[in-house]
Amino acid sequence: MILVTGGAGFIGGNFVLDWLNQSNEAIINLDKLTYAGNLDTLISLKDDPRHRFIRGDIGDRELIGRLLVEFKPRAVVNFAAESHVDRSIHGPSEFIQTNIVGTFNLLEAVRDYWNGLPAREREAFRFLHVSTDEVYGTLEPTDHPFSETTAYRPNSPYSASKAASDHLVRAWHHTYGLPVLTTNCSNNYGPYHFPEKLIPLVILNALAEKPLPIYGDGQQIRDWLFVKDHCSALRRILEAGTTGETYNVGGWNEKANLDVVRAICALLDELKPRADGRPYAEQITFVTDRPGHDRRYAIDARKLERELGWKPADTFETGLRKTVMWYLANARWVQNVTSGAYLDWVQIQYGEQ
Ligand code: NAD
Repeated sequence: MILVTGGAGFIGGNFVLDWLNQSNEAIINLDKLTYAGNLDTLISLKDDPRHRFIRGDIGDRELIGRLLVEFKPRAVVNFAAESHVDRSIHGPSEFIQTNIVGTFNLLEAVRDYWNGLPAREREAFRFLHVSTDEVYGTLEPTDHPFSETTAYRPNSPYSASKAASDHLVRAWHHTYGLPVLTTNCSNNYGPYHFPEKLIPLVILNALAEKPLPIYGDGQQIRDWLFVKDHCSALRRILEAGTTGETYNVGGWNEKANLDVVRAICALLDELKPRADGRPYAEQITFVTDRPGHDRRYAIDARKLERELGWKPADTFETGLRKTVMWYLANARWVQNVTSGAYLDWVQIQYGEQ
């Protein structure tokens, strides 16, 4: 049994589905169900005895403590976070509360539980903290990609709060001996992605014949990883990672945002042409850049490849095609999401649409 936090979100939801596809080990899934948590993602597990969902906050130390004692997981995988950079710029306080204070409370509850375990179980226990490459700040075009030894230089409230949480996790290992693993992953994309993020936003706006907003000149570079490859990396790290270590996870797929949007438009032109036969790229609209927008992220994932033998299964091209096809085939999931809080947020972020 493992305890997953934030398992109703994009990556956590994919991880839960993937995990139960690959093994019969049960999952306790604790999620606060913020606007980003969506139980519809987990609908196929509704009657599955291997999955138990509990609505709750990682900051609720007493609740976490009770769950740990009741279910005795052999590992905790922490996905729970506020995760959207733009939201962190408009209102950072939730990011401080969940990503920093919440992680602190979770660590304390886990430490209490771990201290009470018999020696063999204490030895085998793992706390896997899922984090982002954004903690490293931004790269110049000629800089080497981020490695595990790159200094932390977070630039947004989101990345600063994740950096703080990474430091807490590290300190709980060095000070208390808690057997932690930390991962810093590049931008994920794939099924069940909440449509405030670039790739699903562009797919859905294109189909709805709305503008495709591109920040600034669209030349910001991100390193993309198909979410299922992130899940396989996390499984591998949980299985064989060395405690106290951090692992960078990435797919060596650096792309400028404008090229990503053009690639989505080309796929849609092929898979679902516009009624008037014109190219979707005509909907591209440049909007004012995000303040403090990092220019380039890139991940050097060689440590994970070398030490744990992990490699991504999908290229950016195959993963993006799968993603576009998934959104085309899952109108009900999309409808459910887009009829909710998402619309209010899109209004704040991009103005009336
Ligand atoms: P998400 O926003 O889609 O999901 C976050 C989930 O956490 C939601 O289900 C939400 O309800 C839940 N949550 C929020 N606050 C909570 C709280 N206080 N207690 C319990 N649950 C809470 O995020 P995501 O994209 O799935 O990211 C998951 C993790 O991976 C985050 O820690 C993020 O920093 C990290 N990460 C994301 C990416 C990416 O590209 N999306 C890349 C690298 C790392």
